[in-house]
Amino acid sequence: MEDIYLWQRYVTDLKEAAEWRAIVYSADRKMNGLSGADDLAHNRIIPSAVKQAVWKRDQGKCIECGSKDNLHFDHILPFSKGGSSVLVENIQLFCARHNLQKSDKLI
Ligand SMILES: [Zn+2]
Repeated sequence: MEDIYLWQRYVTDLKEAAEWRAIVYSADRKMNGLSGADDLAHNRIIPSAVKQAVWKRDQGKCIECGSKDNLHFDHILPFSKGGSSVLVENIQLFCARHNLQKSDKLI
């Protein structure tokens, strides 16, 4: 069906455009030293202020096992499901092992 084909293509274009805009905005902000909260609301990148707060709260270690090696900042509610990167409450520290384990569970 041609209609469906066009619709799918339209959605793909929109998605690509949105991703591209996010990349451009992010680069723009870096260049201008800006940190607009509105733009960041839908950004996967966790701002350094949030990272610092999470690091402090979780005491610089994996919340599962206390490991201090290979730590990752993890979205509690995944970004793809609407989870925010700017809320300290939605970010937690995981070591590589537990970060992977969590991804497995979600899939
Ligand atoms: Zn761990």
